[in-house]
Amino acid sequence: MEEVLRVEDLQVHFPVTKGVLFKRQVGSVKAVDGVSFSVKRGETLGVVGESGCGKSTTGLALMNMLNATSGRILFEGEDIRGFNRAQVGRFRRRVQMVYQDPYGSLNPRMKVKSIIGEPLEVHGLAKDKAAYDRRISELLRMVGLLPDMADRYAHEFSGGQRQRIGIARALALEPSVIVCDEPVSALDVSIQAQVINIFKDLQARLGLTYVFISHDLAVVRHISDRIVVMYLGRVIEIASREELYRNPKHPYTQALLSAVPEADVDVDVEHERTRIALKGEIPSPLNIPSGCRFHTRCSMAMEKCRSAEPAMVQAKNGHAVACHLHP
Ligand code: SF4
Repeated sequence: MEEVLRVEDLQVHFPVTKGVLFKRQVGSVKAVDGVSFSVKRGETLGVVGESGCGKSTTGLALMNMLNATSGRILFEGEDIRGFNRAQVGRFRRRVQMVYQDPYGSLNPRMKVKSIIGEPLEVHGLAKDKAAYDRRISELLRMVGLLPDMADRYAHEFSGGQRQRIGIARALALEPSVIVCDEPVSALDVSIQAQVINIFKDLQARLGLTYVFISHDLAVVRHISDRIVVMYLGRVIEIASREELYRNPKHPYTQALLSAVPEADVDVDVEHERTRIALKGEIPSPLNIPSGCRFHTRCSMAMEKCRSAEPAMVQAKNGHAVACHLHP
């Protein structure tokens, strides 16, 4: 499969300053600290990790919405960090985002028609009112809503319906890639499955590529082809969904998976599962531990883990892991 996105050694560091008049930098928050992965056309790449692991910052960098400190983000072979205004405009049509909070991301006082139609207006894509209305109706149908909902206000809809509106808005410009940042985590579990099914249907119909960011391995499992696991600004494991759930290699992934509810794992794997508790909280990205950054919480940590950072090592079947237990 053709590669549509490639992230190479991405770093996003935010300066921490002190002083009121004369600000001086006293440190930096290493939100993303050397992340690399690729996304193939038509696939769903899940990106998982606890809050603070850098997954949402990575998503914003992919959208060219913040200045990365270093590294490259290639979209169809071109580095988006070097794009001029016109190129950014074209990029925005091709790559869209669906946000976490369907309550906060839609203006409750705007009609659905205006919310979904705004990108069409900004990019001059509807030649007249009839074409505009037709496109709004089509987009609403694509996400399982009725065309006559176009004249209602966002605040009249439930969380699940609002997220459908957010998806319709993202689809308005016919993107090829959608970065989804925790798109179902604000929804009830029963509604989550419906929204995930909409994402899947749209992908099958339109050939979309998704980067699906979530803290929830059970959710990511339902939609991803491959999964990237992040910890404290780094990728620590990448594998296909089947491989990751059957044979997680990194102690952090093993701990995360051991906490996934029983109904969301294979029965044969379940027999071997024991809950692995993670020690303590995720350390601050202001003060990343030396060596393997997971060593302060890892039950398998050895002496060398405190001083030497493990490199990402390729195993079989595209499975890669960064841990001294897998040299
Ligand atoms: Fe644990 Fe060491 Fe592997 Fe890090 S490198 S995950 S501390 S065993």
